[in-house]
Amino acid sequence: FCAETKTFYSLRAPVPLPSLSVPVSIPSFAFSLLPSPLPSHTALLDASTGDTISYPQFFSQVRSLTTNLRVHFGISKGDVILVQSPTRMDLFILYWSLLSIGAVVSPVNPALTPSEISRLIHLSKPSLAFAVSSKSQKLPSNLNVVLLDTPRFKSLLETSPKSSDNMKQVEVWQSDLASIQYSSGTTGRLKAAALSHRSFIAKAAGCHALRAAGPQVTLTTAPMFHAMGFFFSLRGIALGETTVVLTQERVTVNDMMEAAKRYRVTHMTVAPPVVVAIAKSVDLSGRDFPALETVNCGGAALNIKAARQFRERFPHVQLSQAYGLTEGGRVSRMIGPEECSRLKSAGRLVENAQVKIVDPNSGKALSVGQTGELWLKSPACMTGYIGDDEANASAFDSDGWLKTGDICYIDQDGFLYVVDRLKELIKYKAYQVPPAELEHLLNSHPEVVDAAVMPIPHEEVGQIPAALVVRREGSTLCETEVIDYVAKQVAPYKKIRRVIFVKRIPKSPSGKILRRELANHILYSSVSR
Ligand code: AMP
Repeated sequence: FCAETKTFYSLRAPVPLPSLSVPVSIPSFAFSLLPSPLPSHTALLDASTGDTISYPQFFSQVRSLTTNLRVHFGISKGDVILVQSPTRMDLFILYWSLLSIGAVVSPVNPALTPSEISRLIHLSKPSLAFAVSSKSQKLPSNLNVVLLDTPRFKSLLETSPKSSDNMKQVEVWQSDLASIQYSSGTTGRLKAAALSHRSFIAKAAGCHALRAAGPQVTLTTAPMFHAMGFFFSLRGIALGETTVVLTQERVTVNDMMEAAKRYRVTHMTVAPPVVVAIAKSVDLSGRDFPALETVNCGGAALNIKAARQFRERFPHVQLSQAYGLTEGGRVSRMIGPEECSRLKSAGRLVENAQVKIVDPNSGKALSVGQTGELWLKSPACMTGYIGDDEANASAFDSDGWLKTGDICYIDQDGFLYVVDRLKELIKYKAYQVPPAELEHLLNSHPEVVDAAVMPIPHEEVGQIPAALVVRREGSTLCETEVIDYVAKQVAPYKKIRRVIFVKRIPKSPSGKILRRELANHILYSSVSR
């Protein structure tokens, strides 16, 4: 901590990043981290089917697809390409190929409804989409779609036209846009965060510098459309690991742990509900997972009771926490047994990160142990929200600090603690549920006069969205009707799960919902039910 600038710096050694004066894309950087000659072991393993792809096969398929995407679909640098698919091994190849050309990958959650997807498309303006056939009908009819689960797509991975042998390589620079990820940020409205190649290069360089020794087998269940899963599609290959995925439609914790056992997984990255489920599952014993070294948990706050139970059941496994956000990348993480023993903390600042803790009322930067909003500067930060000057003006201060909307403090040993959220965001199973979006829908119901959506803490899923609803006079609208009304219009993870009817929604004179007062309503109603 520097008292003069009131800035917290990472205690980890800075990791050098490639010069900005030469073209480097995330795939070319990741490739450069791999040993020469190229590893021949398994790069990707689908635990649901047993299919594997070796490193040589992976790069051969990337080469074919990259050429085919240019020749057959005319994809070129800067084109925004929407990808709507659950996890599949060929998505890894698609992402790598698109990024190699300098196309901008915009992954969307396949569970979203057509109207939710239209709003994303309005922001990112893709020229083409890749989708699985079971979900593609949700895309607008004026968007050209290439289906992934077809023999034609498979053939694009296998051969490429001879005439393309002399095609000029595309120059991709670190400042070029690599991906558009959707987030509600600190204000409930949906936004499109622009992430450059530099952002992913910085993350990959950090992971590479701190990689574990020996062959690593990583299992990740983070969905590939979320910032964390998207990065994991690049990270495992860059580090020469074997990445294990599960591709069946419904993945249970038992499926995950079966795969971890069978494939001798050494490292797992999970969201907090998985730790809760593992901790509660009486059939699981650490003895059956001798290869497992670390389980990293991120995306939302970790339930401490579950973390303790997990430790008792898996005493040889390091359970670590990480904290980050779509817009800023990873901010903190734990490395090694000493850091992992600080259960309540989210770890220490990642390499190359700078943080300020700012009093949200006075705007003053605070000191060690003091609690305020975390502001971030890091090479992994987004460049901004696309086409949204208003959101950018409130997301960054005039010196370029990104305001995370998270309330944190950092102790004298450099450990970060996330204690609350200033921003209007609910995290259900680590998925973003923006209250403003649900409030808008509730207010469109003819019998609703006013509504507000708040999180209620929940042991297994973190938080559930609860609606406080003011009914029209004389209305007999009931909880189930409200829940069903919203559920029809949103992806399943955004469903309202509790309704509390109230007489009024507390608001400031300017009409802003007073969310702290709402929390009291919820507390009162939870106690009185
Ligand atoms: P997303 O952009 O979907 O990754 O969501 C980022 C938000 O999730 C952060 O701004 C935090 O509010 C929350 N979050 C992520 N990791 C943690 C953590 N370890 N502890 C508490 N909250 C977290």
